Amino acid sequence: MQNEIPYRFVQAPVVKERPDKPEEACGVYAVLASDQPVANLTYFGLYALQHRGQESAGIAVFDGEHKVRLHKDMGLVSQVFDQDMLERMQGQLAIGHNRYSTTGSSKVCNAQPVVLMTRLGPFALAHNGNLVNAPELRQKLADIANELTSTTDSELIAFCLQKAVNEGKDWDGALRSAAGCCRGAFSLVIGTPVGLFALRDGHGIRPLVFGHIGDIEKAQWVVSSESCGLDIIGAKFDGDVNPGEIIHFKPGNSQPQRSQWTSEPVKLCVFEMIYFARPDSRFFGESLYSYRVRIGETLARENPVEADIVIGVPDSGIPAAIGYSQFSGIPFGDGLIKNRYVGRTFIQPTQAMREAGIRVKLNPLPDVLSGKRVVVIDDSIVRGTTSRKLVAALRDAGATEVHMRISSPPVTHPCFYGIDTDTQDQLIAARLTLAEIAEHLGVDSLAYLSKSGMVDAAKDNSSNFCSACFDGAYPIEMEESVSSSKLMLEPAGIAATV
Ligand code: SF4
Repeated sequence: MQNEIPYRFVQAPVVKERPDKPEEACGVYAVLASDQPVANLTYFGLYALQHRGQESAGIAVFDGEHKVRLHKDMGLVSQVFDQDMLERMQGQLAIGHNRYSTTGSSKVCNAQPVVLMTRLGPFALAHNGNLVNAPELRQKLADIANELTSTTDSELIAFCLQKAVNEGKDWDGALRSAAGCCRGAFSLVIGTPVGLFALRDGHGIRPLVFGHIGDIEKAQWVVSSESCGLDIIGAKFDGDVNPGEIIHFKPGNSQPQRSQWTSEPVKLCVFEMIYFARPDSRFFGESLYSYRVRIGETLARENPVEADIVIGVPDSGIPAAIGYSQFSGIPFGDGLIKNRYVGRTFIQPTQAMREAGIRVKLNPLPDVLSGKRVVVIDDSIVRGTTSRKLVAALRDAGATEVHMRISSPPVTHPCFYGIDTDTQDQLIAARLTLAEIAEHLGVDSLAYLSKSGMVDAAKDNSSNFCSACFDGAYPIEMEESVSSSKLMLEPAGIAATV
């Protein structure tokens, strides 16, 4: 294994204020090609998946001679890679990853892909999701504890795979064995000397799709967390990696080998539909834009109000606002302008600056809002801090009434499957009644989409969702220790530095 480009340690900016939205775990991406620069394609794929993780990015490329070149660092894809770097990463198979930390703190040793050596050669693994049995797995791997270089559950999956290969299994058998040791959410892409593997947990909690470029006989295969990662490089969408499925893409082979490694009830994260995934990504045969317009229509049917204008909180609230407007007949308007360049690690304004009214992300348009009764559509409320400021800003801009409509049910439970939500005591809907939340936010009225409205909008797939953060019905059992924190694998004391 060759790691030509040494890690650069970059001081991660201190996040002073947690964002008031659930944060996505990661994006994974892989390309197996024969006559194209795969590092470049992977760069563009990761660029399309940037919304799934902005803390670190990495690409591992197989050069065809059992060597892997790996580069990963803190920052956005465009900050971590440049043209020179990509040109040095020549090869036919690439594995890419964007990270937002859900297990393990935000530091470069936790960036992915994870690259390890086995008796059959090296492999590179990238993971989206979160294991609920990570402490138990760590215990199982106690004999190699000194080889662990990170505090992530993803590295534990990689070491399980390495162990299975070194104990005599082939790649397919070792992957099944490693997957069988894991409980939780895991969508994986794995580059090996015998080609590319894609694997999804039995419930299919995190998405994973695949497609191809060019003639199917000499296809170049692409695997991505979302279909927008296929579109950006002109790959044709072929379908989902099914829940519980393992797919093996071999170099120069037109037909990938597909098989189930397990079979369980499908439980796709419904928050992917509502908020996380890009609206141009396809789920269940249609773009999420269409689904989100539909839940906006349902929201209007369930919670009508007399008003002059409907606005959406950019970007994820816009399609539902269009749906609300279409059903209610109230005109849609652009009442909020978003600064699209504010990342998660943006230095937060001081309390004094906030009190002075600094608006970093969203600015209301008085020309659109002044003198109007406004319906404002957002995709979710977590702690309510952002919503409260937003309502105040809308009133400052001249709105005479503010009616908030939320295109998901109240978030009452934390997530343990790869989404960074607050603990339950931080979730406003777990602490306050609807009337109390409305009063806290300062709105004239507040209403949420019903749970049936949310899932029924997915038509035939309404039973195929995890909706535990709305109803507490967790599809995978967890040990007590798992519910503690994303830093559960960290040495004592590290939380103070994150
Ligand atoms: S608990 Fe909520 S955020 Fe987590 S996987 Fe289930 S639906 Fe998604």
